[in-house]
Amino acid sequence: MNQSFAPLATTSIAAPVVTRIDTVILDLPTIRPHKLSVATMTGQVLTLVRIQCSDGITGIGECTTIGGLAYGGESPESMKTNIDTWFAPVMIGQDATRVQALMARLGKMVRDNRFAKSAVETALLDAQGKRLGLPVSELLGGRRRDRLPVAWTLASGDTARDIAEAEEMLALRRHRIFKLKIGARALRDDIAHVAAIKTALGERGAVRVDVNMAWSETEAERGMAALADAGCELVEQPVPGAAALSRLMRRFGVALMADESLTGPESAFDLARLQGADVFAVKLEQSGGAFNALRVAAIADAAGIGLYGGTMLEGAVGTVVSAHAFATFANLQWGTELFGPLLLTEEILAEPLDYSDFELAVPAGPGLGIALDEDRVAFFARDGIRRTISLPPASHPAGRN
Ligand SMILES: [Mg+2]
Repeated sequence: MNQSFAPLATTSIAAPVVTRIDTVILDLPTIRPHKLSVATMTGQVLTLVRIQCSDGITGIGECTTIGGLAYGGESPESMKTNIDTWFAPVMIGQDATRVQALMARLGKMVRDNRFAKSAVETALLDAQGKRLGLPVSELLGGRRRDRLPVAWTLASGDTARDIAEAEEMLALRRHRIFKLKIGARALRDDIAHVAAIKTALGERGAVRVDVNMAWSETEAERGMAALADAGCELVEQPVPGAAALSRLMRRFGVALMADESLTGPESAFDLARLQGADVFAVKLEQSGGAFNALRVAAIADAAGIGLYGGTMLEGAVGTVVSAHAFATFANLQWGTELFGPLLLTEEILAEPLDYSDFELAVPAGPGLGIALDEDRVAFFARDGIRRTISLPPASHPAGRN
C-alpha cells in the first residue's frame, strides 16, 4: 500500500470556522446637516457586522450607505436583513482563514449586495489579521505608507459657513483639500459658491467639486469650463454614465473623476477602455470589498488613471478597512476623503483614530487595529438599551479634533 497517497485531511489540523454572525444598526448624530444633490443627511446610520470563529476570534465589519437608498440599492435595514437571513447560512461552518475562497462562495450564492459583502469581508479580514498578528494592510499585499492625506467635504450649503469651516480645518491642521457638494442649485449659483471659496482660500487650500451626477451634458460643458476658470482642480461625476464622462474628458482645464459609475472591476475596465476618467474614486463598499478595490486600483494603474481613496461616509470600522487598502496602493495621487468618523458627534471606538497634520494614521495593530467601545455601541444600537434621537454638542468627546 502506497502511504504517500494518504488523504491530506487525516494529517491536517482543522481550520477555524465561522460560528456566528451578528449585525446591529447604529443611529448616530452628525455635526451638521450634510447636503448632497441626492439627499440631505442629518444623521448617519451604520450597520455593524460581527463574525465569531471557532478559535474564539471575532472580526468586525461595517456597511454604511449615504442617505438611506438615495445613493444605491442597499439600505442599512436591507443589509442587516440580507446578512442575517441569506449570508449567514452560506458562511457558518466554513473555513474562516480562507477569506477569498469564502467570499467567492458567497458571490456564487448571493448576487449584488456589494456593500454588505464588503462588511463581511472586512470582518473576516479583521479576524484573520488578529489570528496571524498582522494588520489587514499586510493581508492585502503590504502597506506602502502609514499615513493618508484626508480631504474634507464642505457641504453646509452656505458659502460663508463653508469658508469659516475651511478656515477652521486649516487652523487645526486637519484638512487642506476641500470638496464642495454642488449640483442641487442653479449652475450660476454653484459656480459663484465655488469661486468665492477658492478666492477666500487661495493657495492655502485645494478646491474640488462633486456633482453627484446632477448635471446634463450641456450643463457639464458650461459648468466644467467655469469651474476651471474658478481654480477648481477636479470635478467628480458631473454626469451619469461612462460614455457621457468620456465625451467630457480632456476638454477643460480640470481633472474628471468617476465615482458613482465605478462599481467594481468590470466597470473600472469599461471606464478605462472608454477613457471616461482622469481619476477613479475607489470605494471599498462600491467595489464589493477590499480585494475588489485592489483590482480596481490595478486597472487604473495599467490605464494611467489616477487614484483617490473615496468614502461612503462610513464610521470608524469602514473607514479603517479602507485606510488599510489605500495604504497598499502603488499610486494614490489624489489622496483620500476618509473623514467619515469626523462627521459624527459620537466616538464608538475605545481609542479614537489619529487625524493630525492633514492626515489619518493607518492603525498598526493586528487586524483592523481598532476596538469598539461596546458601551457606546450598545447605547446607539437602534434596538438596543436606549433609543437615541440626538445628543447636545456638549457630549462631543473633548480634544478629539
Ligand atoms: Mg462622490
